[in-house]
Amino acid sequence: MDISGALSALTNTVTLVKAIKDLDHSLGKSELKAKMADLYSDLAEVKMAMVDAGNEIKRLEAEKAELLKRFSAKDELILHKGYHYRADPNDKSKPIGHAVCPLCLSEEGIQMTLRDVGYKPTCPRCNTTYEDAFVFGYP
Ligand SMILES: [Zn+2]
Repeated sequence: MDISGALSALTNTVTLVKAIKDLDHSLGKSELKAKMADLYSDLAEVKMAMVDAGNEIKRLEAEKAELLKRFSAKDELILHKGYHYRADPNDKSKPIGHAVCPLCLSEEGIQMTLRDVGYKPTCPRCNTTYEDAFVFGYP
């Protein structure tokens, strides 16, 4: 069960607790016992949902750590007139090809190389166009 499922189970449990609170006290002991059994069942479901949600959070934290590690291990970039470029593998001081999308790089650490769309360098990920980005040749 995911987090929204856990919230749904919790909402149902709260509704049941309110129903028990508002129960007509003249009702029989057997009806109260049945409501308490429902409450116990719902609470067990909420507990399982919270365990699942906790496991999902742990999984997402591990995935986030892996992604951060991957981004920080990416290629070193060369800054040229406000844009970052990949380095020529034969000469690490020379930029090559298209620039890396400044928006994706600054916002999420993603090195997304621009591509020409109608002769305009454009990010294939966020679709931002950078008309003033220079394009270096490839070796
Ligand atoms: Zn982008």
